[in-house]
This record gives sequence, structure tokens and C-alpha cells, in this order.
Amino acid sequence: MRLREKRVNCPPHCVLCNSADEDSLHLFFNCPSSSNVWNLSNLSNDVKIAVTQGLNSNAVIFHLLQVLSAEESALFATILWSIWKQRNNKIWNDVTDAQNFVLERASSLLYEWNAARNARLNNNVVNRDGICIRDDEGAFVIARTKCLTPKCDVHIGEALGLLTALQWVHELQLGPIEFELDSKKVVDSFGANRHDSTEFGAIINDCKTLFNHFYENSSVEFVRRQANGTAHELAKAATLSTNFHILVTPPHCIEHILINDML
Ligand SMILES: [Zn+2]
Repeated sequence: MRLREKRVNCPPHCVLCNSADEDSLHLFFNCPSSSNVWNLSNLSNDVKIAVTQGLNSNAVIFHLLQVLSAEESALFATILWSIWKQRNNKIWNDVTDAQNFVLERASSLLYEWNAARNARLNNNVVNRDGICIRDDEGAFVIARTKCLTPKCDVHIGEALGLLTALQWVHELQLGPIEFELDSKKVVDSFGANRHDSTEFGAIINDCKTLFNHFYENSSVEFVRRQANGTAHELAKAATLSTNFHILVTPPHCIEHILINDML
């Protein structure tokens, strides 16, 4: 709905069931497709009870996060993300994700995150590419970490971090974003106009191309390392994993930093 108000060309109906107006209550809960996904999960009863109370989608989500256990809340949040991804895949890529796959994708994401969180941390191979998105008020929205080859040059790692963030946020269709990086070299090169034919320069060029194509009213800014502690903690958590991680609830390791930042 919000995208349509901004004149982005989205279909007005629900692409998962081809009927009704797509509002968030329908998409996430009342759509027959999404309702089947919940039925396949062990959250089906709680979701049904919450939805029949006649609340709007925000209230349903808030209510469920209050009543579910921490483990269930994490699954609940990843399923919401996976349904959103299913909808975007249909609209932007014309790909139909099966309902059991939507649940599986959520579960495996959670599994990977838990595995990364439990992994032993080794500070020597930390790369600075944790990504954390917060809303206007500083509240946590979504985060992701990706582990790069441990031995790559630190500036290249930082530039790849920015490129990953630009690609990922574009994929999520989140709108204007302020990217905060603690690498002065990356931010300066991103803002500069000089030609740089090194590998680092090529990555920065890719960043500029993506940014110019897809980002309006957005910015890439330098922040002091302490202020950007969240990303570092996420990068640490990803150290021993080779996969992407999208963290849809504040993982334990960054919770205290998010709270500190919001105060
Ligand atoms: Zn529908």
C-alpha cells in the first residue's frame, strides 16, 4: 500500500491468492496462502486466536510477541519475513514459493542464526560487515551478517560490506536509508569522484552504481566505531559461518548495544 502511494507500480490485489486488496492484515494472516503457512507451523493456534480478535496487523503482531515464548517469537518473526519475501518474489521475480518452503526458509534461517550465535568467536578473523537496520526512532528492524573470506584486505572487506548492504536493502524494498559505516576510507572514496582502478575501487564503483540507481533520499555516512558497535557485534557473530544471516529479532549479542544507542 505504501509503495503504491509513492507511485511504485505494485498490483493492488494480493498476489498470493489473487483476490482482495493487499493490506498487511490480509497478506500476513488472512490470506489463504499465509493462513496455510501458519497451519503448517506450531504457532497456528496462537495466530488464529490473535487474528480473530479483530485487531489490525500491528496489534496482532504486538500481541503475539507478548504471549509467545522467546523461541516462538523468533520463529514468528522469521515466518513474517518469509511471507514478505514470498510476496516480493512473486511481484518482482514472478517466482512462486510453495507454502511449505516459506516455512522451511524461516526455520532454516533461524537454525543458521542459532548456530552462528553458538559458534565460538575468534576476534582475529572478524570482518566488519554486520548490517543492522533501524527505524527513525532507533528501534531495531532487521539485521544481517555475512562472513567474508577472513584473509581479505580490511578495506576491501569494508567496501564489500557496503555493497552487500546496498544489495540487501534494495532487495527488501525498504525505502530511504541512512547507511552508517565506520570506515572513513570507504565513505570518502564513495563520495569522491576520482577514478580508482584497484579491486577496492571497482567495488566502490559497484556501490555507486547501485546507490545511484535505487536509492533516493538516502545517504552513506561515516560514524565513529563506538557508535557503530552493533555492526561489529554482528560481524563477530558471523565469524565462523559461511552463510548469510538475516536476523529478524535483536540477537542477544547486540541487544545491549541497541538499548544503549536508543537511550
Ligand atoms: Zn491473499
